[in-house]
Amino acid sequence: MKIAVIGTGYVGLVTGTCLAETGNEVVCVDIDASKVEKMRQGIVPIYEPHLDLLFERNIKANRLSFTTSLEEGLEHGDIIFLALPTPEDEDGSADLSYVLGVSEEIGKKIKQYKVIVDKSTVPVGTSEKVHAVIAENAICEFDVVSNPEFLREGFAVDDFLKPERIVVGSSSDRATELMQKLYRPFVRSGNPIIVMDEKSAELTKYAANSFLATKITFMNEIANYCEKVGADVDKVRVGMGTDSRIGKRFLFPGIGYGGSCFPKDVKALQKAGKEEDYDFKILNAVIDVNQKQKTILLPKMDDYFGDLSGKKIAVWGLAFKPETDDIREAPSIDMMNGLLEKGASLSVFDPEAMPNIKRKFGEKLSYADSMYAALKDADALLICTEWSIFRTPDLNKIKDLLKSPVIFDGRNLYNVNDLQSEGFTYISIGRNEIR
Ligand code: NAD
Repeated sequence: MKIAVIGTGYVGLVTGTCLAETGNEVVCVDIDASKVEKMRQGIVPIYEPHLDLLFERNIKANRLSFTTSLEEGLEHGDIIFLALPTPEDEDGSADLSYVLGVSEEIGKKIKQYKVIVDKSTVPVGTSEKVHAVIAENAICEFDVVSNPEFLREGFAVDDFLKPERIVVGSSSDRATELMQKLYRPFVRSGNPIIVMDEKSAELTKYAANSFLATKITFMNEIANYCEKVGADVDKVRVGMGTDSRIGKRFLFPGIGYGGSCFPKDVKALQKAGKEEDYDFKILNAVIDVNQKQKTILLPKMDDYFGDLSGKKIAVWGLAFKPETDDIREAPSIDMMNGLLEKGASLSVFDPEAMPNIKRKFGEKLSYADSMYAALKDADALLICTEWSIFRTPDLNKIKDLLKSPVIFDGRNLYNVNDLQSEGFTYISIGRNEIR
């Protein structure tokens, strides 16, 4: 099938590449000329495990190409995916200007039947808006489908190739059939393609992300309470998670959720509720608790040092989660801003996110070549992201390099007793602290 994907970020590039992998001819369109140039030279512009292999293979096979010309993409594709940003607007709602702006252009440019597939995360009713904007100028038939994306950064390729489910929101049989044909190779193991109306599909995505953000946040509150009463959140987590109604996943406490999706999606649903005179009380609490959770280790660091001014803190992990270079809304940013404000200096390390953090913080931070290099002469280590390489470090090396053996762990990576017996001061989230 002939596909165009508009927007080649985490979602668009993975979508385009994976659709090429099953034999489709895909043209990816992006407004960012330097990004397109890079991709044409065979360079993957983001870090996403396994993407490079598929990217290279499909370019070589002439199934995947890149352009800045929307016209070219529209001429090529029978199915047009919109994988455009829907960032948080000033009032918390989803900014639809990218989606509607491109839709307007689509309306002016298409000459024969196309299926326009919205993969961006958008509020209920956006399909109708996209349809109306295209219809203003279109001289041919077209259908608009809502096809929210559930991939996780860090596992995006696997998630796309083997999705747990695919949601297709469509009221057109013709478009639904095309979508089912396109996605059939990805659900051979029997996972469902769930067809529903456009509005329900749009809301499914917001509901899923808001539920996951709520689950994390609930556990963070339990962790904070554990600290007050001397309970251990790790034990509570295992005790709870073995109940199949609850499940083991997404119960790990820490310094809050971040990323390009949860924060903006929870806020967008809250705002969309307000517009209908509906107050999402749970979401209000989730947003509030998560914002505080991001810097929950700051007062603990303050308490420990008395005065953070002049202290050097090593930071491990800057990305909003492991296996990505994405730093959007990362808790590390809130922690580092807080520490800088208090006069601390920071020596930082992340396996993939250093260039993005450097663009944001510039000379305010010192960038280490390795996780151990970051520790040299630091007063403490702060862990913000649970990259695997941080999980079993050489504790003797950490002790040798730090001025004194102090770890503030925002991701509960280590066993409290192990660190205690090694002589560390180890302060984490919701567990019995050692001082
Ligand atoms: P992104 O910011 O990584 O990428 C967006 C791309 O669109 C950029 O390359 C940008 O240059 C391009 N672009 C902007 N305006 C354009 C235009 N007029 N024409 C062509 N290209 C244009 O975004 P993303 O993370 O891929 O997210 C895209 C959408 O998917 C958002 O709605 C997001 O909420 C949703 N989503 C994201 C994820 C995720 O994990 N990142 C998961 C599911 C859904």
